[in-house]
Amino acid sequence: MKCMKCGADAVKSTTTDVTDLGACLIIIRNVPCYRCTECAEIIYTGDTVRKLEEIVERAKSEINDISVIDYMRYAA
Ligand SMILES: [Zn+2]
Repeated sequence: MKCMKCGADAVKSTTTDVTDLGACLIIIRNVPCYRCTECAEIIYTGDTVRKLEEIVERAKSEINDISVIDYMRYAA
C-alpha cells in the first residue's frame, strides 16, 4: 500500500476513527488501516470504509451523545 499524499510506503496499523454528527460524536476504536511511514497519513481500504459507514448508521439511531465503539466487535 502506498500513501496517497506523498507516495511513501504505508504499513498495516490500527487507528481511532472519530465521526462528529453535530448532535453526537461516534468514536470507533481499533479500526484497521494503513499508516504512512513518512507523513503518518491514515489510509482505509474500501471494505473498512463501508464497515465504518455501517457502524455509524447503526450507532446514530442508538445514541444521542458520545459513543465509543470497538470496531473489532462489529467486524467479527
Ligand atoms: Zn505519506
